[in-house]
Amino acid sequence: MSSQYKCHLCQMTCAEESQVARIIELNDGSKMPVLGLETWKPSHLPHTSLQGAVEAAIAAGYRHIDTAFCYCNEVEIGKALRSKIQQGIIRRQDMFIVSKLWCTHHKPEDIPLCLNKSLTNLQLDYLDLYLIHIPPGPKKMGEEHFPRMDGHIETDIDYGDMWTEMEALQTSGKVRSIGVSNFSIVQLERLLAFCKVPPVVNQVELKPHLAQSGLIEFCKSRKIAMTAHSPFDSPTSSPPLSRDDTDPHELLDHQVIADIARKYKRSPAQVLLRYHVQQGIAVIPKSGKSHHLLENTKIFDFSLHEEDMKALRQLKQGFRGAQT
Ligand code: NAP
Repeated sequence: MSSQYKCHLCQMTCAEESQVARIIELNDGSKMPVLGLETWKPSHLPHTSLQGAVEAAIAAGYRHIDTAFCYCNEVEIGKALRSKIQQGIIRRQDMFIVSKLWCTHHKPEDIPLCLNKSLTNLQLDYLDLYLIHIPPGPKKMGEEHFPRMDGHIETDIDYGDMWTEMEALQTSGKVRSIGVSNFSIVQLERLLAFCKVPPVVNQVELKPHLAQSGLIEFCKSRKIAMTAHSPFDSPTSSPPLSRDDTDPHELLDHQVIADIARKYKRSPAQVLLRYHVQQGIAVIPKSGKSHHLLENTKIFDFSLHEEDMKALRQLKQGFRGAQT
């Protein structure tokens, strides 16, 4: 028998609950909606249409929006939030807004500057979650988001020093929670060994073809929640980083996923999203289309049987589509 269920935090209505939490409680006590909206890639979702897409997502029930300083789209997201707040559709405290520190601002003294720019862009006075977008590496510091890499550039920035600054931002109240993105087990182990405040989230690329089971187990054991980005394998990435002619180019068209989708009378996109939330992992699909935005919320009223989860996990591993 189905019953209507409306979550008071994520505001989504489904036919029935399916034993999957819609909210992940983070290790600092904050609550993060398990389904969010990704917002990157101007080639797919131009800035001119992003504000409309975010407004449509809020109307469809999304309460978790993921952006980053380097996406150069925080202004449009800020306009969408402001518009929905002014219309009385949402209050600031209903939303879980995530942004990320870009690598051009990795010097500890630059970190508050990058956050302040994001807050100004978003017209907010705090973020719910601020992530180190990628661990420090050979990137040029400065104003240019994607500087040309002419030869090898050394960096002596230690993410330990960066983390101390992230902790200070949390103390300041400008960010409620702090976390990381694209961190490995080795990097997390080192961070956990000296941090005062452990990261609440590690956002990484996850999908059946990139199951990263070891990293998931590690994060679970240390109470670090995970967010899966690029759940549809970044079909708009061009060229995808690790594919060749023998790779499964279209995850949404993959035969195994299509067969499972048919079995549950769902779409391949819903199966791919359900795969994550059923593992207790937050997922942030992106779409510029209202019907896809809505379809992607309908993942809480069915469960994948263990045999199907296993079939998904057994797909060939190692394919990365995202470009960080
Ligand atoms: P994605 O979320 O895997 O896929 C989005 C694509 O799927 C769009 O082309 C969208 O097209 C389509 N889609 C969405 N819902 C659908 C549905 N129900 N049925 C069919 N197609 C559907 O990957 P992406 O486009 O590459 O986005 C990458 C995202 O990952 C970025 O937004 C970024 O936030 C995140 N990311 C994070 C990092 C990091 O370091 N943390 C790195 C890279 C990327 P329509 O618009 O037509 O629906």
